[in-house]
Amino acid sequence: MREGSRRASAGVELLVMDDDAPHRAALAVSQADALLIGAGAGMGVDSGLPDFRGDRGFWRAYPPYEKLGLNFIDLANPRWFRTDPALAWGFYGHRLMLYRATEPHDGFRILLDWSRRMQHGAFVFTSNVDGHFQKAGFDPGRIVEVHGSFATAQCLENCGAPLHSGDQVEVSIDESTMRAHEPLPACPQCGGLARPNILMFGDWEWDDARTAEQTRRLENWLAGVTDSRLVIVECGAGTAVPSVRSFCERLARDTGGTLIRLNIREPEGPAGQIGMAVGALAGLQAIAERL
Ligand SMILES: [Zn+2]
Repeated sequence: MREGSRRASAGVELLVMDDDAPHRAALAVSQADALLIGAGAGMGVDSGLPDFRGDRGFWRAYPPYEKLGLNFIDLANPRWFRTDPALAWGFYGHRLMLYRATEPHDGFRILLDWSRRMQHGAFVFTSNVDGHFQKAGFDPGRIVEVHGSFATAQCLENCGAPLHSGDQVEVSIDESTMRAHEPLPACPQCGGLARPNILMFGDWEWDDARTAEQTRRLENWLAGVTDSRLVIVECGAGTAVPSVRSFCERLARDTGGTLIRLNIREPEGPAGQIGMAVGALAGLQAIAERL
């Protein structure tokens, strides 16, 4: 067993940050010829985005919701688009405008540099809906946005219109109430209310066509790198909504690839993999310095 790790339960080690981890991670990156990047909410935090962790943190960012007694999970629910569209678009519109106004941090550039060194380049698997990998210059054809994105919107009335671009969506919000002003975003085909193409909690109406197409492209890419040395760099993906974390662990297990987990609160992972208890940006910089 490596120094700096201890056995927690059968087959699982709790890895703690040790001096050796960034070196081992740099070695894995330098020896790889395909890069899978997993990203969760912690990736955006380093760009200055709120992570909505815990009700207190959420309400500090958005005081009007504390008065209404609504937390993040209450609000991220499609029912508001039917019962109170101005509240729904206040919540999502504010995030949309914030993501547009925010620049991706330097960790994105580091990952892009690594992807250019790899024979098979990189593929991104993210639960973030902010479009920041595209904004940072990653190939849009090599990104899976597993929870959707603000880049597209869908008709709430299911009129049959395909997903439409969200790039033109503009929302004006009264920040004292967090309610959106009319006119609210509309479906270009029927004129009914539109909603972001983002997977919400208890969401049975999310149109997964775009994410399904992205996933097919990822599967094709993975089929082409089966004989390659794959490195998986997972940034800020926690256990609360484990889509990205589970995917990265499974991929490492199934392909024999090396998993590098950068997670300030939950760095533990499968035995033999690399966990660093750092934020995404600091972890990527630490590895880059050793390359
Ligand atoms: Zn429509």
